[in-house]
Amino acid sequence: MRIVCLDMEGVLVPEIWIEFAERAGIPALRRTTRDEPDYDKLMTFRLEQLRQHNLGLPDIQKVIAEMGPMPGAREFLDELRERYQLVILSDTFYEFAHPLMRQLGWPTLFCHSLETDARGFVTDYHLRMPNQKKEAVRRLKELNFKTVAAGDSYNDTAMLGEADGGILFCPPENVIREFPQFPVVRDYAALRAEIDAAFARTVS
Ligand SMILES: [Mg+2]
Repeated sequence: MRIVCLDMEGVLVPEIWIEFAERAGIPALRRTTRDEPDYDKLMTFRLEQLRQHNLGLPDIQKVIAEMGPMPGAREFLDELRERYQLVILSDTFYEFAHPLMRQLGWPTLFCHSLETDARGFVTDYHLRMPNQKKEAVRRLKELNFKTVAAGDSYNDTAMLGEADGGILFCPPENVIREFPQFPVVRDYAALRAEIDAAFARTVS
C-alpha cells in the first residue's frame, strides 16, 4: 500500500515558465514568485504577456512539447511504477503539462487548470485548492497508504514533511540549508535507492 508522490518541474521536466521564456524569446516570462511574491499578480502578468505576443494555448503547447522531459525521466518512472503507485503533485496546469505527460507515458497528475477563449487564448487560471501537495499526501495517508515524497524546492517542503519519508532532488543550496532534515539526492538512481530505503523504514 505504498504511493510515491513526486513534484514535476525540476524533478521530471524543466521549469516550464523559465524554459518557455528562453524558447519563445520572451525574457519577461522569466519572472518568478521570487520577483513577484503575489501569485495572482504574477499569473495575470504572464497571461498578459502571452496575449501580447499573440501566443494561444496550441502555440504554447507546441513549445512545451519541444522541451521534453529530463533525460532518463521516462525510464525512471516506468521502473518506479512496477513496484509502487505514483502520483505527480504539481503546481503547474493540466494544459501546460499535457505534452510532457504524453512523453512520460501519462502518469497520474494532480495540478491546476487554465481557461481559454474560443480563439485559444488563455484568459484565466484556476487553482484547485490551496496547499494541494501537502493536502494530497495527508489524504492519501488517511486512505492507509504509506507515502514517500520527493521535490526540489520550497513549494515541496510541506509535502515532504507530511509524507512518511521526504527527499530533496537537486535542490538549490538555500533549501538544503533550511531543511537539513531531508536527504538530498542528485540523480534518478540515487532517488530510487532513497525511495526504497524510506519505505523500508516505514513500518507497514
Ligand atoms: Mg519543482
